[in-house]
Amino acid sequence: MALVEIENITKNYQMGEIQVQALRNITLSIEEAAFVSFVGPSGSGKTTMLNLIGCLDRPTEGKIAVDGKDVSTLDRKQGAIFRGSLLGYIFQAFNLFPVLTAYENVEYPLVMVKNESPARRKKHVLEVLNAVGMINQKDKRPDQLSGGQKQRIAVARALVTRPKLVLADEPTANLDRKTAVNIIRLMREMRDEFNTTFIFSTHDPGVMEEAEVIHTLEDGRLSHSKQRLASVPEGKNDSNI
Ligand code: ADP
Ligand code: MG
Repeated sequence: MALVEIENITKNYQMGEIQVQALRNITLSIEEAAFVSFVGPSGSGKTTMLNLIGCLDRPTEGKIAVDGKDVSTLDRKQGAIFRGSLLGYIFQAFNLFPVLTAYENVEYPLVMVKNESPARRKKHVLEVLNAVGMINQKDKRPDQLSGGQKQRIAVARALVTRPKLVLADEPTANLDRKTAVNIIRLMREMRDEFNTTFIFSTHDPGVMEEAEVIHTLEDGRLSHSKQRLASVPEGKNDSNI
């Protein structure tokens, strides 16, 4: 069974008299430990798609199952519990608390979500800070860190609860090209290390090339999906799926 099963989903937004079709009749599945990107121009439906998978919003029609559970019908409270137990998020604007140190920012989800002893909490925080290469910066506050370093901390924060799935909506949009590619590669290394499934969105061609599966959205439709096999030479590894 795939980790995410999306069946015939449609999402409409009502804007006064006008109905916006943000997603139109999309069916796809995402395997466990996959490294997947949704790409497409602004307004194509990427954020809507990630919000539906992350149960921050519900589809107008169709069904979404995450880890075997139908999330298309969860109410707000059920959705919040489900998110806390299974999902991590990385945001475009980093969304770190400015008054907390890097360490405290990473620790925060553990304090909020998991009832762990201080000793275990410390072990988990140091482990993920080490994994993202930020152990030496742990006592700095966000304004003392570069954009790339902030996003490394945000990656650590998303992983500290050991979620099955991390969702990242345009995680590299505030970074220069080189740093952006480094952050995506770091996310892929984290997938290798923790077996976490990563789903991210981007409109940057250099960033999307780092994904193993690329779903292209155009005007709310899934126009194309392709799988890249990491071990095959560049240019020979694209196949329609
Ligand atoms: P992307 O992330 O690819 O830029 P979005 O998913 O944000 O695309 O938006 C897809 C379409 O849905 C756009 O036409 C956008 O204007 C519309 N849309 C998104 N969110 C809302 C909302 N809350 N209310 C009304 N329209 C929305
Ligand atoms: Mg968006």
